[in-house]
Amino acid sequence: MIDILCVGCHPDDIEMSMAGSILLFKEKGYRVGILDLTNGEPTPFGAPEKRMEERDRASRILNVDARITLDLPNRYLTENLDAREKIAEVYRELRPSIIFTHYDEDIHPDHTAGSRLSVEARFHAKLTKTSMKGAPHFADLLFYHGANHKRIIQQPAFILDVTTFFEKKLEACRCYESQFYTPERKEYMKDILTGRGLYYGSLIRAKYGEPFFSTEAVGLNDIAHLAGFHPGHLQNSKSLPTRKGMADIEKWVKEGEAF
Ligand SMILES: [Zn+2]
Repeated sequence: MIDILCVGCHPDDIEMSMAGSILLFKEKGYRVGILDLTNGEPTPFGAPEKRMEERDRASRILNVDARITLDLPNRYLTENLDAREKIAEVYRELRPSIIFTHYDEDIHPDHTAGSRLSVEARFHAKLTKTSMKGAPHFADLLFYHGANHKRIIQQPAFILDVTTFFEKKLEACRCYESQFYTPERKEYMKDILTGRGLYYGSLIRAKYGEPFFSTEAVGLNDIAHLAGFHPGHLQNSKSLPTRKGMADIEKWVKEGEAF
């Protein structure tokens, strides 16, 4: 059993979109799994064994509790009942409370099909009186991660501060040498991830952020979980002038030395 399952169509989608968040979840003590719907091959410079070896190295860096790679067809992923049931069986086996998956607006057809399949499988997994393996299960929450080939800026439902984990995220992404096979492509990957990380981080006043999207309202149990919320901030702030400091400032103002 795990707490959080991250669904990607190809090994490297999850690393690129939410490796920082996975490292954050793991530090908080949650059990995290990754489900790749396909092995991501063929690609121009990859091979199934090589891609699996890269996947395993990245998984070790992320310290995930489970990683399953299904045998659905890379490049030809389509919505069908067999595929939905295979994904639902993984949900029934791993029993996550939260699922992260692809957003269904994307240029890559695998990503759009994978998004719909993984959303449909959430409901399918709770069916009784079926031939599927495992006991019925329904994940409480489902969000979308940012693995997207479409060049759009979506409004995130929330952004996680992954500043502490950003270098390790890059390390996990670099494992996929079959995808980033020249110095230029490696540099491009780093630039894209850094640019996005800085952009989404800036929206929450953190250095690096990873965005997540939702088609449903996002609830909080406690407002204290909001990044940037510091109850008693003003009273406790060391940067506020002391009484002596205030006297100095008043004196400087009077003497025309400040402001
Ligand atoms: Zn992909």
